[in-house]
Amino acid sequence: MKADSIRLPSQTPTAARLRGFASAALRLAARALPSQCALCGNLSQRVLCDGCDAQYWNEPRLRCATCALPMAASAIRRERENARLHCGACLESPPAFNDTLALADYRAPLDTLAVELKFRALLAAGEAFARNLRAVFEDSDLPRPDLIVPVPLSHTRLVARGYNQAWAIARPLARMMSVRADASIVTRVRHTSAQSRLDQETRRRNVASAFAVSGDVRGKHVGVVDDVMTSGATLDALARTLKLAGARRVSNFVALRTPKD
Ligand SMILES: [Zn+2]
Ligand SMILES: [Zn+2]
Repeated sequence: MKADSIRLPSQTPTAARLRGFASAALRLAARALPSQCALCGNLSQRVLCDGCDAQYWNEPRLRCATCALPMAASAIRRERENARLHCGACLESPPAFNDTLALADYRAPLDTLAVELKFRALLAAGEAFARNLRAVFEDSDLPRPDLIVPVPLSHTRLVARGYNQAWAIARPLARMMSVRADASIVTRVRHTSAQSRLDQETRRRNVASAFAVSGDVRGKHVGVVDDVMTSGATLDALARTLKLAGARRVSNFVALRTPKD
């Protein structure tokens, strides 16, 4: 018998996998119960301390009702009071989604939270995003969606990361809003290359027909949740797919919005 074929029980692939899983679970648990503010490092039981919470969330930005792009005050005076505001791009060629709510611009320091959630499994950040998105929703004139779905990851990426950061926001958000959440009704059928490396036109082509709907969304108002909205091409493609499957209205709930492409 060759030496390398002898394995002690604790060295079996299963045992190693279990140990790896256990330590990953412990790391996740530690990250899920922060004792420090993720932004300033002050002692805090929540992901953000009270000071950062008050300072950075819900910045008073006027945003396009359709795509949540921040709008200049000069652009707004041209529209009637109390009317929903729309940016030029959405007026010129409306996207497939109807509405977008966003918490804040994608920039320092809140971008740190999105990065922590996406790459370091800071799931408490998902809860914090959800709590604030719920508040923005309550302040809006948006009707309650019938169903909330996360922007899905491809199977390959889901396996590599171990979780979907959009689901980490969507699940608590749906619970807080008393809306049904479903992470399996929409799937990504094609593995798209990392969006951040592509220009806008390539992004559009990249996400076309990237999604499939496997459940019944006919006549439904669907809330779509994502951590960061950049060009909006992914959300547009997803909304297009949902509308083709019969969805009546699609509203995006995004944590952070990049101000410009
Ligand atoms: Zn802080
Ligand atoms: Zn817009």
